[in-house]
Amino acid sequence: MRPRSDQFHELSSEALEDSFLREALKRASSSFHAAKTDAVDSMPDWEELRQRGHDRKNRAIENLPEALEVFEKNLRSRGGEVHYCEDGAAARDQVLSIIRSSGGRSVTKSKSMVTEEIALNDHLEAAGLSVLEGDLGEYIIQLAGEHPSHIIAPAIHKSREEVAELFHDHLGSDPDADIPELTRVARETLREAFLGADIGISGANFVIAETGTIVLVENEGNIRMSTTVPRVHIAVVGIEKVLPRRSDLAALLRLLCRSATGQRVTSYISFISSPRTGGEGDGPEKLHVVFLDAGRSRLWADPTQREALNCIRCGACLNFCPVYGSVGGHSYGWVYPGPIGSVITPHYVGIEKASQLPQASSLCGRCGEVCPMKIPLPDMLLGLRAKAVEAGSAGFSEKLSMRVFSLLARSPRLWRLLLALGRPFYRLVARAGLASILGGAARRWSRSRSLPLPGRSGFRRWWREDSERGGE
Ligand code: SF4
Repeated sequence: MRPRSDQFHELSSEALEDSFLREALKRASSSFHAAKTDAVDSMPDWEELRQRGHDRKNRAIENLPEALEVFEKNLRSRGGEVHYCEDGAAARDQVLSIIRSSGGRSVTKSKSMVTEEIALNDHLEAAGLSVLEGDLGEYIIQLAGEHPSHIIAPAIHKSREEVAELFHDHLGSDPDADIPELTRVARETLREAFLGADIGISGANFVIAETGTIVLVENEGNIRMSTTVPRVHIAVVGIEKVLPRRSDLAALLRLLCRSATGQRVTSYISFISSPRTGGEGDGPEKLHVVFLDAGRSRLWADPTQREALNCIRCGACLNFCPVYGSVGGHSYGWVYPGPIGSVITPHYVGIEKASQLPQASSLCGRCGEVCPMKIPLPDMLLGLRAKAVEAGSAGFSEKLSMRVFSLLARSPRLWRLLLALGRPFYRLVARAGLASILGGAARRWSRSRSLPLPGRSGFRRWWREDSERGGE
């Protein structure tokens, strides 16, 4: 997927015009909110668990180089192979070379953001291989020729009617099929593909160094199919997924399931520590882990942003973000949307190609509050805004307005004068809807909102009068 992360303004303006998308996002986020809130409220020790998860993952990230070495040694000792790739191109080539050397032709893939990140499907299809997404949401967007718009719910932007039409066009099902019927049709098609595939590709939610184990979390069972039926299993994994010990996992699994879908525990958790061994009746003959760096070492080297590597991809920050809830995932222009996407994308694709993303936040702080890993997302977004300005992203009008603001903020007299003069003008603009005929940010802002009318007296006067009355 070609990054369009420098086009947030344009893409989000288009998304704001799409009333169906906004309705779909509203519906999805309210059900995510309710599920997460229930799951969290039923746990009196949630904050303790968050702290434990945060500490464990922090320690894991601090010791990342050592943990990777231990994982490699342990997986190799049981017949698995480990490859390190510096960037997406190297990872794509590595996967293709494994497939070629094993004589593979057909691939089934489980849901994996990292394979989206390296645009693996396009690469494999261009090489003449057939690639089928096994996750229902991913399968829907593969048929639609689109990309995921949410970390855990890739087809969140699609209605039942749209999916029925897609299935009708591609699979010949009833155009008015209901959801159970659509699921049945998908299951039948995918089941056949799983049974005929010779290569299975997955990501990984975690990998455990101590035991050389890949951990995969899912609800549909398609990952089990992709990782056990084909002859070869290739797991493409971001280097930040490694945990030193098995005991680190329990807290993180509990945090992930409750924050992602509100489940106490997810339907399937797979632990894969080797290819098929002597007496086993299933499992792949070959197991490869392809570790991807692609900007993660750069992020690791930045102490003010390193904690972003603690992300367990639960999607909670997206579900609670008012910006994501209005514009959806495609507006972010690349693989990772929402607050976490706005933080990691500039590191992965370069700040100059994603300088608008740190601005894609109202800094209300909800993302930081709901993040189970306690990642300080708002602080990180502020830090990235500073970096974007250093990299020259601020235009003339932004620089000028910041200079004027800085001048006013340092001069209480000037500030009061401007407020006194500005209030009547602002009331006039708000009443007459003049913002829509002004230029630049005022026009963009007012396209989908109305300006709130300010109070007559203003905060300072109200405060003074209230203090004089004794704050009653
Ligand atoms: S940043 Fe936090 S809330 Fe957002 S996806 Fe990652 S772990 Fe979940």
